[in-house]
Amino acid sequence: MKESYAISADVAVVGGGVVGLCVSHDLAAAGAATTLWEAGHPGGGASAEAHGQLVPPAGPLRPLFDDSVARYEQLAAEDAGEVMDRDPCGALVLDTASAQAVRDDGEPLSAAEARACEPALGPAVRGAVWLPQARRIDPRRLIALLAEAARAQGVAVRGGSPVVELIRVARGWQLRTVQGDRVTYRTVILAAGRHSVRLRPDLPIMGVRGRVLRTTPHPPLLRHIVGEPVRARLTVPTLAQVAAQDPAEAHVGLLLHQRPDGVLLIGASWQHAWQPDPPGLDGVVARRAIQLVPALAEARIGGAWSGVRPETPDGMPIVDQIDENLFVCAGHGGSGFIAGPGSARLVAELVLGRPPFTDPRPFRHHRLGSATSRSLPSHVCSGEDLRWVGGASATPHRP
Ligand SMILES: Cc1cc2nc3c(=O)[nH]c(=O)nc-3n(C[C@H](O)[C@H](O)[C@H](O)COP(=O)(O)OP(=O)(O)OC[C@H]3O[C@@H](n4cnc5c(N)ncnc54)[C@H](O)[C@@H]3O)c2cc1C
Repeated sequence: MKESYAISADVAVVGGGVVGLCVSHDLAAAGAATTLWEAGHPGGGASAEAHGQLVPPAGPLRPLFDDSVARYEQLAAEDAGEVMDRDPCGALVLDTASAQAVRDDGEPLSAAEARACEPALGPAVRGAVWLPQARRIDPRRLIALLAEAARAQGVAVRGGSPVVELIRVARGWQLRTVQGDRVTYRTVILAAGRHSVRLRPDLPIMGVRGRVLRTTPHPPLLRHIVGEPVRARLTVPTLAQVAAQDPAEAHVGLLLHQRPDGVLLIGASWQHAWQPDPPGLDGVVARRAIQLVPALAEARIGGAWSGVRPETPDGMPIVDQIDENLFVCAGHGGSGFIAGPGSARLVAELVLGRPPFTDPRPFRHHRLGSATSRSLPSHVCSGEDLRWVGGASATPHRP
């Protein structure tokens, strides 16, 4: 294969999902000559598989959520389609186990109040927390608008160009593509979602597959996003734990909403990407959904899809400089649309040396680094999807 060499003074972003599109847009808007290298086509990764729910997170992700919504509002204002709810539809985080509050950052509702708010809820619901700022989005439409916005800012998009190697050189970083091109950039931002580990195997990001069921268009049933509060975070199992696994066991944390076209989306599961989905997974999802919303029993299935989330051990993205002139913005798990554009703004500010709009410390890679070396023996780290760390016990995660 004939290799070509080129030198470019400015910035390369690797990966054109929701995150990479926003990073490249923001850097180009700041005046950097920016090239986006994308293996396939922009938005062809996890971003195409998202459910489309923006449930406000608690904690350090919250400023990233607020910033992301502000960006979507700007895009929605210029778009004729229904890319995002104009007004928030709100979310009910349901309590089915005890009558205690499941989140402390929303308005606690009794079972009766929750049913008054969302009459379709069944008797299994014993209370809820109301999060009024939640919205529904159309992820694919959003990606198209973000790609358009990046191009309009002058980002050079190089689709169909998987980057296979990042080589440190005197003037910065040399990118080698599968086609054999070698281009040198002063600064590189890695935003390749779960595939970021192929270029930097030291990143603790792993793939966690989710499956979503969708119905055919249904008469109005749900006014709000409704969902379960806590799911167990996946950890790397031992071989003994794999041997003891119940084949029917499925990690499911349900979030449901009805799209403006009447289609109900019901998901999702949480399964290591290297393992097949357990048999009967759709049955588990359907039973749980009917338990929360009994009228769903009559809804007809229109299809289902699976996608793979880029997860870190603590469920927070890595937004940081990890080497000289090398930055990462990846590992957003199930929150890539919730927090992706905000984290893109943050990494662009780090690249440009500007004051960050929010505290970057919760997103630094060092928070995971020591755990990486302690928790996993090196041979475990050699499998692509086993680049995952964490203690043996499950920690709670909120949607
Ligand atoms: C079933 C499911 C439901 C979800 N629902 C929601 C939701 O409701 N709300 C929400 O906020 N999030 C949701 N998510 C999570 C969200 O989809 C992800 O967090 C988000 O899409 C991650 O974006 P990203 O840009 O980091 O990665 P990706 O979208 O995966 O983009 C990475 C890009 O990098 C490219 N790439 C990879 N390797 C290379 C390489 N070597 N060279 C060049 N390019 C490369 C890929 O082709 C891809 O286009 C869901 C995810 C799943 C799977």
